[in-house]
Amino acid sequence: MTRPTTPALLDRFGRLHTYLRVSVTDRCNYRCVYCLPEEGASWLPRDGVLRYEEIARVVRIMAPMGLRRVRLTGGEPTVRKDIEDLVAAVAAVPGLEEVTMTTNAHRFAPLAVGLRRAGLTRVNISVDSLDPARFARITRGGDLAAVLAGIDAAIDAGLTPVKLNMVVMRGVNDDELLPMTRWAMERAPAVQLRFIEYMPFAERWHENLPAAEMRARLAALGELVPAPERQGGGPAAHWRVGPLIVGFIAPITEHFCAACNRLRLLADGHLRTCLAHEDTPSLLTSLRGGASDEAIAGQIRTIVLGKPAGHLAEAEGGKAFEGVMTQIGG
Ligand code: SAM
Repeated sequence: MTRPTTPALLDRFGRLHTYLRVSVTDRCNYRCVYCLPEEGASWLPRDGVLRYEEIARVVRIMAPMGLRRVRLTGGEPTVRKDIEDLVAAVAAVPGLEEVTMTTNAHRFAPLAVGLRRAGLTRVNISVDSLDPARFARITRGGDLAAVLAGIDAAIDAGLTPVKLNMVVMRGVNDDELLPMTRWAMERAPAVQLRFIEYMPFAERWHENLPAAEMRARLAALGELVPAPERQGGGPAAHWRVGPLIVGFIAPITEHFCAACNRLRLLADGHLRTCLAHEDTPSLLTSLRGGASDEAIAGQIRTIVLGKPAGHLAEAEGGKAFEGVMTQIGG
């Protein structure tokens, strides 16, 4: 990794921030039960959303400060027009090593090759059930066949390994832990699987299934061998089950705040240092108000220095996460 050329994105706790999640839109074509209210959220007005050139400028400012990887998320990134233009603009920033995307893949199949050509490195696809009726219930109207076509297209386009994200909810889809793993094993190494602990946005604590319990259940498929290699530098702890790499993202029971290297640029220009904390200023005013790159870099450094040690949601009764995931970019 090349060293940062301007004062790095270091916080008070010595954490270097190399990873930026960009919520490119707060809009989504799905209404997943754990993410959005049924009626949808109140969408941002279009001129309140960062333009592509503004996002690319923030990335250009942050790259010399140590930023190496950008993930485009949302909302649903594929509902934003000409998303490959943003991928190309971000991928062209010197120093950046990776541009990835998290998508529900409903619209992904026809976009896969173009996104790859534009410079997308890999893709994470959310799939919480392999049963079409249950999938439609969880996503409130989603089409599993379209998503599976999206997964195939991503593999064919070489956006591999395709990481499949399953949010595990007790009593909702936890009976699919083994079927989902078997399904993914058949597609390894082109896919990897990641189980995500349900985060209690709606304070439905009882549906959180701790990662340790998931691992215990998975042992029915064979020994889980720790896979120490960092798979993309994210927060997942990785294991091997046969040919498959399985990650567990456990923001609640095995939180990874001490090693957190991520920042979040929200669709409205707020730069969040933590999923669970809301009180950071927006870069939008500076971006549109004629501020210089140096001034914006200074603003970013101040925000990073204010990053808290960790979120406070690790225990029942702890502080619930604030805001709606589609705005924060889960
Ligand atoms: N629309 C895209 C998608 O479906 O992947 C990207 C945005 S989505 C907010 C990003 C990730 O956040 C998804 O993997 C989703 O499953 C996860 N997520 C959303 N709400 C969550 C919650 N309450 N607990 C755990 N994961 C959540």
